[in-house]
Amino acid sequence: MANIIIIGNGPAGVSTALYTTRAGFNTTIIGKDSGALGKAKEIENYYGFEAPISGQSLIEGGISQAKRLGVELISDEVVGLNYNGKLMVQTKNQDYVADSVVIATGTSRMAPKIKGLKEYEGNGVSYCAVCDAFFYRGKDVAVLGEGEYAVHEAMELLPTSKSVTILTNGKEPLVTIPSGIRVNTAPVTALEGTQVIEKVIFKDGTSLAVAGVFVALGVAGSSALAKKIGAEIDGNKIVVDENMATSIPGLYAAGDCTGGLLQIAKAVYEGAKAGTEVIKYLRNNEEEKSA
Ligand SMILES: Cc1cc2nc3c(=O)[nH]c(=O)nc-3n(C[C@H](O)[C@H](O)[C@H](O)COP(=O)(O)OP(=O)(O)OC[C@H]3O[C@@H](n4cnc5c(N)ncnc54)[C@H](O)[C@@H]3O)c2cc1C
Repeated sequence: MANIIIIGNGPAGVSTALYTTRAGFNTTIIGKDSGALGKAKEIENYYGFEAPISGQSLIEGGISQAKRLGVELISDEVVGLNYNGKLMVQTKNQDYVADSVVIATGTSRMAPKIKGLKEYEGNGVSYCAVCDAFFYRGKDVAVLGEGEYAVHEAMELLPTSKSVTILTNGKEPLVTIPSGIRVNTAPVTALEGTQVIEKVIFKDGTSLAVAGVFVALGVAGSSALAKKIGAEIDGNKIVVDENMATSIPGLYAAGDCTGGLLQIAKAVYEGAKAGTEVIKYLRNNEEEKSA
């Protein structure tokens, strides 16, 4: 039986899973925390609750419902997504192969305030080490981030770059930094260069000469994951068609990560739509194989 991996245990991810598991497909959700909904203290515009309900209660209810229906829930952080004949989801701890993947990781509501970060996008600023490491071979590069995701990106760059420095931008590293990777914890104020990035400027007035800065703040966001596998994005939104399908066969996206109305009702609808479309996609594949 084909299997589905859903990245994200918010309303979009859980809603997808309710459909795929009830259709008999092995369904796994990988989520790392309670996402945007966990921050919502009182919700009173979602159907079916006479009194306001907390986001946390909605999450817990959704997760219990999914578990009861047979969905496997894994608490882990996804750091990579690629395709090697099959879709492959990489977490901090393990790699998972899937017949279909749904990205339901919500959206980032925070952007670092570093001068030059936006301006140099594509000219030294990258959001995907596996996609762009090739362009920086033999050069000094930096990774902006402080956690597991930053280390994952740094390790992708290490074999081909002259040097890799993790820039934690004033934070303490959250994980042990493997040997071979340098660390600079000073706050970053700007990225500078002429046509392309040439150096990072720190708040203390020092600078670091680099040809590229790879952004890997916090956890791998939806657009970063989509980019890794080559799916089309528009800014920080994943581009989907009316069936929540991305430009990669078997890869779907739902919820805040597709943009538009950032509300629970829309996340639940898109999850339901992605779930029903994944079912059709997998059933078609199975029919083709047995024909
Ligand atoms: C303060 C606040 C108040 C709000 N109030 C309301 C309201 O009153 N009404 C309303 O309708 N909406 C409200 N919203 C919006 C609502 O919470 C979102 O629209 C909704 O939660 C989107 O669902 P989602 O499943 O797309 O994303 P999210 O709920 O953000 O879930 C994303 C999931 O992805 C997981 N994830 C992300 N990255 C990774 C990774 N790399 N690896 C593994 N897992 C990952 C997270 O752990 C999380 O489980 C509010 C939002 C906020 C922040």
